[in-house]
Amino acid sequence: MSMIPYAKQSISEQDIEAVAKVLRSDFITQGPVVVQFEQAIAEYCGADYTIAVSHGTAALHLACLALDVGEGDSVWTSPNSFVASANCALYCGAKIDFIDIDPQTYNISMTQLKDKLKLAEQNNTLPKVLIPVHFSGQSCDMQAIKSLSQQYGFSIIEDAAHALGGEYQKTKIGSCHYSDISIMSFHPAKMITSGEGGMLLTNRQDLADSIEQLRSHGITRNPEQMKGASHGSWYYQQLDLGFNYRITDIQAALGLSQLQRLDDFVSQRRALAKHYNEKLQGLALTIPWQHPDTQSSWHLYVICLQLEHLNVGRKQIFDLLRQAGVGVHVHYIPIHTQPFYQEKGFKEGDFPASEAYYATALTLPLFAEMSVEQLDFIVDNLTKILHVNDGL
Ligand SMILES: *Cc1c(COP(=O)(O)O)cnc(C)c1O
Repeated sequence: MSMIPYAKQSISEQDIEAVAKVLRSDFITQGPVVVQFEQAIAEYCGADYTIAVSHGTAALHLACLALDVGEGDSVWTSPNSFVASANCALYCGAKIDFIDIDPQTYNISMTQLKDKLKLAEQNNTLPKVLIPVHFSGQSCDMQAIKSLSQQYGFSIIEDAAHALGGEYQKTKIGSCHYSDISIMSFHPAKMITSGEGGMLLTNRQDLADSIEQLRSHGITRNPEQMKGASHGSWYYQQLDLGFNYRITDIQAALGLSQLQRLDDFVSQRRALAKHYNEKLQGLALTIPWQHPDTQSSWHLYVICLQLEHLNVGRKQIFDLLRQAGVGVHVHYIPIHTQPFYQEKGFKEGDFPASEAYYATALTLPLFAEMSVEQLDFIVDNLTKILHVNDGL
């Protein structure tokens, strides 16, 4: 029996044809399709500027650099995320710190954030940048975060790697209405894929210019940006220390073709999530709570097991489901508990809500092409395991 995966890309014949068309064309890297992909994402999300890059991780790195994050600065994010959300600060030589999560949304806790900012103001340790992560595709409380950023003077990078297609206050995530920069990932597990790929979105031209330069070695070919006169049309200048974080036209063609199906993907995921919510009623678990200001993209469907009502642990439930062919997963191991971060001085117990969440969290399979039969199979297996082992 094959395993139902926790996530799976959906590739159509049209996607394959779009990629093949690029392969038959003159440009296979940074060509016209990258620009089309950027414009299409800008239009979809309602942001003024978009810059496509090789990975979501590269997008986070360039977002920090464009906001001048460097030595002596501090960046804050949530421990309930992929390690890339924190690593980007360290790439820039800055310090990283974390804000614990809200036990209801699993996103950054607004009360913890307010308390920590107050304290940091007294100690002169305010962050330069905050990276709220829209965990599972549900937006953080961006309006409140924006108003805190004005009060305390920090910049905001939305890690929207999960959230393309999601909405906050009826506006598409990625619009940057309440942030300086948003980043997306097009890894195959995410909402749409380009194989590997990422995007930065912003409404600030200064940031867009700087990101575009950093994406390609810190080089400009625009005479208006040069120091002194251009030597001719072959001429370029390196103005900063950048990287090769370019995406290819081959990847952009896949991303652009996938974007045309994004709304279908999101509505399929929403219908499946609704079905999960209904079918999981009455079991010893907590279904994902949704804030009324948000419309999740449903990148992940995470339940929290009520272990106090069960005679088995999360690990056993995980293993039994895997044995039954249900490819469950766990998102996320709190970043500060990783050995690399423990060596930086973080300790277990530092962010108790993230740790308590991690102890009970289980990601059930969810992807656009998942069938209702597959969902029923998953729920039936989970129900059986929980019923055999519940002490209710
Ligand atoms: C996937 C992911 C990233 C990194 O994206 P890549 O494209 O894999 O580099 C960053 N942040 C979060 C929250 C992610 O889930």
